[in-house]
Amino acid sequence: MSTPFFSHAIIGGGLLGSSVAYHLSRISKNASIAVLERGSSLDWAAHGNTRYSTGLITSSHASEAGRFMVGQTFADLEDLKGLGFDANFRRVGCVEVGLSLTPSSPPLGPLGNILHFEGWHKAFADPSKPASFDDFLVSEQFARDGCVSPTDLAACYRNAARKMNPALDVRFDSDVVAMEGEDMVELTTADGSKIRAGTVINAAGAWVNSAAGAPAASSVPVGLMRADYWMMRAPRPIPASTPLLTLPGAYIKPGGGDRVEIGTYRDEQVVYGHADEPADQEDNEVESIMCKLELLKTFIPDIEEYAPVHYTSAKTTYTPDGMPVLGRVGGGTGGVDSGGGVFAVSGCNGYGVTWSGGLGRIVAEAVLGVKNVPAELDAGRYEGWTEEEVKKGAAEKRRTKFGVWPPEEQGGVSANA
Ligand SMILES: Cc1cc2nc3c(=O)[nH]c(=O)nc-3n(C[C@H](O)[C@H](O)[C@H](O)COP(=O)(O)OP(=O)(O)OC[C@H]3O[C@@H](n4cnc5c(N)ncnc54)[C@H](O)[C@@H]3O)c2cc1C
Repeated sequence: MSTPFFSHAIIGGGLLGSSVAYHLSRISKNASIAVLERGSSLDWAAHGNTRYSTGLITSSHASEAGRFMVGQTFADLEDLKGLGFDANFRRVGCVEVGLSLTPSSPPLGPLGNILHFEGWHKAFADPSKPASFDDFLVSEQFARDGCVSPTDLAACYRNAARKMNPALDVRFDSDVVAMEGEDMVELTTADGSKIRAGTVINAAGAWVNSAAGAPAASSVPVGLMRADYWMMRAPRPIPASTPLLTLPGAYIKPGGGDRVEIGTYRDEQVVYGHADEPADQEDNEVESIMCKLELLKTFIPDIEEYAPVHYTSAKTTYTPDGMPVLGRVGGGTGGVDSGGGVFAVSGCNGYGVTWSGGLGRIVAEAVLGVKNVPAELDAGRYEGWTEEEVKKGAAEKRRTKFGVWPPEEQGGVSANA
């Protein structure tokens, strides 16, 4: 039997692999696409980041590329719904608070406690007019922001792709263990099956550098770091109008009733060598709240009365400039050993959900030859960097996401990419 051929093979059926499959199918209805996912159809989500993600979709990005990518995600949510696949996005708004405060600033006054403030609904009464608060700074607020289940969104992308392109072949239980080839790439899965593809899109998330024995020449310039958050139980119900909140060093997602998820950015980031490496035992789960206790107390004075309910942690990819890395890493054209034929999508810097639509579209347009990858996202920008420099820069970017507390610089400037 001859080896099946696909114009595009996507390694990884997480959110990004699914979004790429959708955008390839949208642009080129005749593309022959295979998605190879090592998880089974029942548990695929448990294998990657998408399952563990908080699922925030937020608009505050300093770069034009960042704003384009989230804009595409919002457009996709509407288009997916139009195709009959509703990802149940929950629009609650997002507020970036407190970047002008210092630890010596007076208490938050009437605001008092950002999780028990009754005035948030007024902030979004007229989304065209920013709300003003006398006693603290809201540096940005976005009425359109909210959250989604990332696994539902991934399923919507895949199902919509199949609706447009019935020949789309999603293969679960397909752990890609080898890739080789010159003119076209041959992929081998753990059960010995093979397929050939014109272009391989490596969307293996945190495993981007270990999937398929990825050749050193196509090593993707990312740092691998733990992202984690606690679901907590508040001592009293949190008003339903409370938006998503970002603080200088933490993010907060009210979860309904008395539940809230709090994620922090540690001052000391551990950079891992492999996505399956165990987390540092010294730096335990509780540390993820304790390390930002002073910050949290400033904005949520009764934080010590909150009870931890559930801890979630996974490893995710960051870059020194906070932007994704896309492209034919290694620049080779003569086969996978020199980096040719394999297109990576990685380095989502905690925005893999937020930017999923834009990333899927940019990758699809690039591999179909419709548009080049924008220079600020091209993996080639890290040529000449050592692995150590990339890892160190990526750790610094993660540490300073949304700013730091206590502030290292005055001026209330967002560290957002
Ligand atoms: C705790 C946490 C909170 C987060 N919160 C947010 C948030 O609020 N907002 C936001 O925008 N982003 C957030 N992120 C980031 C976002 O979730 C990720 O960027 C996104 O899910 C990445 O999707 P992905 O498809 O690239 O990776 P994954 O979901 O990891 O998918 C990769 C897939 O590849 C498969 N795979 C790996 N190797 C192979 C192989 N050899 N063969 C076949 N398949 C393979 C895996 O099984 C997996 O399913 C968060 C991340 C974490 C960890």
